[in-house]
Amino acid sequence: MASAYELIDHEFDVVVVGAGGAGLRATLGMAEQGFNTACVTKVFPTRSHTVAAQGGIAGSLGNMGPDSWQWHMYDTVKGSDWLGDNDAMEYLAREAPAAIYELEHYGVPFSRTESGKIYQRPFGGHMTEFGEGPPVQRTCAAADRTGHAILHTLYGQSVKHNAQFFIEYFAIDLIMGEDGSCQGIIAWKLDDGTLHRFRAKLVVLATGGYGRSYFSATSAHTCTGDGNGMVARAGLPLQDMEFVQFHPTGIYGAGVLITEGARGEGGYLTNSEGERFMERYAPNAKDLASRDVVSRCMTLEIREGRGVGPKKDHIYLHLDHLDPKVLHERLPGITESAKIFAGVDLTREPIPVLPTVHYNMGGIPANYHGEVLNPTETEPDRVVHGLMAVGEAACASVHGANRLGSNSLTDLVVFGRAAALRAGKVLDRQAPVPGINRSQDDKILAHFDRLRNANGSRPTADLRDAMQRTMQEDAAVFRTGETLASGVERMSAVHAQFADVKVTDRSMIWNSDLVETLELENLMINALATVVCAEARHESRGAHAREDFPNRDDENWRKHSLARVTADGEVTLGYRPVHVDPLTPESEGGIALKKIAPKARVY
Ligand SMILES: Cc1cc2nc3c(=O)[nH]c(=O)nc-3n(C[C@H](O)[C@H](O)[C@H](O)COP(=O)(O)OP(=O)(O)OC[C@H]3O[C@@H](n4cnc5c(N)ncnc54)[C@H](O)[C@@H]3O)c2cc1C
Repeated sequence: MASAYELIDHEFDVVVVGAGGAGLRATLGMAEQGFNTACVTKVFPTRSHTVAAQGGIAGSLGNMGPDSWQWHMYDTVKGSDWLGDNDAMEYLAREAPAAIYELEHYGVPFSRTESGKIYQRPFGGHMTEFGEGPPVQRTCAAADRTGHAILHTLYGQSVKHNAQFFIEYFAIDLIMGEDGSCQGIIAWKLDDGTLHRFRAKLVVLATGGYGRSYFSATSAHTCTGDGNGMVARAGLPLQDMEFVQFHPTGIYGAGVLITEGARGEGGYLTNSEGERFMERYAPNAKDLASRDVVSRCMTLEIREGRGVGPKKDHIYLHLDHLDPKVLHERLPGITESAKIFAGVDLTREPIPVLPTVHYNMGGIPANYHGEVLNPTETEPDRVVHGLMAVGEAACASVHGANRLGSNSLTDLVVFGRAAALRAGKVLDRQAPVPGINRSQDDKILAHFDRLRNANGSRPTADLRDAMQRTMQEDAAVFRTGETLASGVERMSAVHAQFADVKVTDRSMIWNSDLVETLELENLMINALATVVCAEARHESRGAHAREDFPNRDDENWRKHSLARVTADGEVTLGYRPVHVDPLTPESEGGIALKKIAPKARVY
């Protein structure tokens, strides 16, 4: 039966899966080094979710006042609630300026200061003086369309360097060798129904997050964690999946994002009493405290009866006091979004907002070179040969338990670039690409065929709805043992019902029913890992806020969660130590260890 499918063959040095910021930066870097590089993407490159990134990209250029990579690193460590790996966080902060100047030279049209330098705005959790001083202006922006500008520029550059694009190809699974290395992927070309085998010396997963496992998310419908699903099916673990970021300002009802840059430009939140309540919770950073903190404060205000609107179930974001010129120049996109999605003229009225699922800190465990890890007890940093992961799909881990705003775009370009630099060092240019691995191919195709012909009683959309509601209700901003136990039970039940899924369309061409089913399978793996890891973690850290364990517990829980998810939906947990040592010792200009040692996290 599986042999009924013919495979069209391709051989490359490197295959990058994903054409968002991370995938394109990796593709460009690989092509620049002369590797024969393919970029496989299920949507047209410039439609990847990165295109929606508004606020900007963080880096200590110091264009608006004093700043340093050490301050940026400190803020990132604190933002991560001491769960990030210090070597990776140092790499991010140190390399950020170079990666941003590189973007400038590639052609990203950044907003400018009067004197012509790249404009930088304040963003949540980015401060001066190791968190002791006022907010810093560190976030480089192209108005409020920064992701758009970056994505278009990187796509143009990749084409210029002769990277080969395979557009609207859906990657189904990784081809894994007997020795545990990755040897390529199998993908389905959506517009003509052909199946393709890409054999490569290196596969780079840059498939983005899995926001769509929740009911209300700011992310695109394509954010379905496919790379994470492929990794789980290859028997590899996912890391820190319990940490899901809620952005404080999704538009009430629609879920569409209003960038944190809005608060960076002076916007503030109020409750039903017209009070600027963030001043009470975070006297120093106020509305620019980090996202997990602001989302929790908003939820508390609503719970205590101080929400706004007829149902008292949301909060107001004010920009009506700002000079319309600033709105026009710096925030044109959200001016439009507020009008379309909330019917609000933000020069006159506040925007109704609510914390909305926005970002996945967890993902495929990787080191700061982008290499994927398959940890064992004795070898927590064991590398999987032939496989890298970058961007939101990866967990390097630079965001730990909570990502700072504008650090993701930095993550995409810094680690997309790092992956290419690493490949330049470790890839053997003379070596042949791996041979054909028929038993693997058959397994992948048999699975694909089973879903294509799935003839159960539950339509994909039904099961997706059940999953999204479960996650929204049971793995939310605040969590308890009870909600999480219910989440585990309900998600396991939904997963079990996937055996009874019904796919109506059997064709191979533009079969969106089957695409959504493959995506749902991937989403469910992510969702299961998220609730199971969350139930197991008996502490509160970053975005994981448990009412039954309100404190952070560094002694027992300063460690990364690892979840292996089987085809039957069994989740096995393991743990891996946090990298405490930064890359550069203090004696060589690095940050002092005691500076980044865990302490209470107040803003
Ligand atoms: C609305 C919004 C605004 C944001 N604003 C900011 C901001 O201002 N600053 C900031 O730092 N961060 C921001 N973020 C976060 C940041 O934009 C994302 O984390 C980041 O863009 C993810 O990039 P990526 O390259 O990892 O993946 P994506 O951009 O999501 O791209 C994923 C790619 O993988 C491909 N793909 C996925 N699955 C498959 C498959 N099965 N087969 C083939 N291809 C596949 C897709 O086609 C796509 O090309 C924002 C996020 C959102 C949702």
